[in-house]
Amino acid sequence: TEAADKTEGGVLVFGTNAEFPPFEYVGDDGEPDGFDVALIKAVGEKLGMEVQVENMEFDSLVSSIGNRIDGAIAGMTVTDERKEQVDFSDPYYEAVQFVIVSADSDIATVDDLKNKTIGSQLGTTGMFLSEDIEGATAQTYNRAIDAVNDLVNGRVDAVIIDKNPAEVFNTKFEGKVKIIDGAEFGFETEEYAIALPKGSELVDQINQALEDLKADGTFDALVAQYIGE
Ligand code: GLN
Repeated sequence: TEAADKTEGGVLVFGTNAEFPPFEYVGDDGEPDGFDVALIKAVGEKLGMEVQVENMEFDSLVSSIGNRIDGAIAGMTVTDERKEQVDFSDPYYEAVQFVIVSADSDIATVDDLKNKTIGSQLGTTGMFLSEDIEGATAQTYNRAIDAVNDLVNGRVDAVIIDKNPAEVFNTKFEGKVKIIDGAEFGFETEEYAIALPKGSELVDQINQALEDLKADGTFDALVAQYIGE
């Protein structure tokens, strides 16, 4: 593919969905910013390539890899279904789905979610989990923030979304919502990785760059700067 033929000094275009703080959000200058954006730019520096980050809908990232974009970095969980379409780099971050409910909600266990209306972002692992809950109605949104707004307005009973954005939204809507660790609902640990075209030589190159960024302290510095852990 064209993406696999990129040579030193080339430009790589990575897709993201800048609605997922602290991993990606729209910065004050209107451009995508966040941990993933900084990480992929640092990867580009290691590879001697310029990286451009394009903001698009999460649900169209995977199908755009190898055509419109060279890869995606979007807090994207490695799943078997996605692996049928793309190759993933080594994982760079561990996550779990969290459940956001209104501050006065009694929802505390996975059984409490049965027959409820559950909001999530379209095409995410949070959506897939909500679809597996017995009798539940999965209500999907292009932007996670719209799901949380609907929760606050009483249009959905819960939102399922990854831990770190859940914590950001919990702070943003302080007093109106609360968050529950999905581990208490039996949700499994997930791993984020960079998605690339199947068979791309970029996989090995990016894995090497990630290893170098961990060894030289850049990776931990970005975690501290953007995620604060
Ligand atoms: N980690 C989740 C997934 O991969 C959500 C990612 C996102 O919304 N950016 O589906």
